[in-house]
Amino acid sequence: MYQLASRGEREGSIVDVDGVRFGEGFVVIAGPCAVEDEFQMEAVTRGVASCGAHMLRGGAFKPRTSPYSFQGLGEAGVELIARVAEKHRMPTVVEAMAESQLGLLSSHVSMIQIGARNMQNYSLLQAAARTGKPILLKRGPAATLDEVLYAAEYLLVEGNERVVLCERGVRGFDPQTRNLFDLAGALRLKELTHLPVIVDPSHATGRRSLIAPLVAASAAAGLDGAMVEVHPDPARARSDAEQALDLGAFAGLMARVAPAPKVAASPSR
Ligand code: PEP
Ligand code: MN
Repeated sequence: MYQLASRGEREGSIVDVDGVRFGEGFVVIAGPCAVEDEFQMEAVTRGVASCGAHMLRGGAFKPRTSPYSFQGLGEAGVELIARVAEKHRMPTVVEAMAESQLGLLSSHVSMIQIGARNMQNYSLLQAAARTGKPILLKRGPAATLDEVLYAAEYLLVEGNERVVLCERGVRGFDPQTRNLFDLAGALRLKELTHLPVIVDPSHATGRRSLIAPLVAASAAAGLDGAMVEVHPDPARARSDAEQALDLGAFAGLMARVAPAPKVAASPSR
């Protein structure tokens, strides 16, 4: 049994990430699929921060389906997101694809993301947990909720209590949406665990038109937050262009939800 992750008689846990408190109000993480260049990062960070986003996302090591697709800027991307985020006082989350990236990420970002494809990479989970950084654990594309919770247990058993879970859609049968957004599964997760649960309708649907309504639905249903992809010029995004919101659409999304009040971030980087 996943005894550390189980809700049991526990209240919902609060997970603090540089002053952003998951589990207390609706937290919004926004930013591009991938860190691309200084101009993009400056524009998107300034834009999402002014709309009230709590945290900045951006991939530097991208898990692309094809090896011929843009793979991310690597170390330079981590340094770039860290520099721009610091200027705008935004806590950050960046994905680790390999243990060798954990040292760099721990010293530059606020939270480490374990992507869907690596949810069951147990040695990566153990090493990520041992950094002591908060972890955003995304549901695998075909993972049952029990499997998600056992993956979370790998993190918790290392003594790292700052774990947030993320529903990002599971493999479906209809190409009209990229994945099947499992809202019921996310709500069931909250019954099973005390850990905060957020949603990622960008990767769940692959369609920008569906993102704001699904974020609104998730907030109304009592989930703990959302992560959405935003790009200052979606047509030019180097990855996941079809699901990127522009800054105007992101402002519209924020007007539809009642995000948790923003507190001044106190970066611990
Ligand atoms: C991401 O959030 O950048 C990402 C690649 O998502 P997922 O792991 O859910 O596919
Ligand atoms: Mn993406």
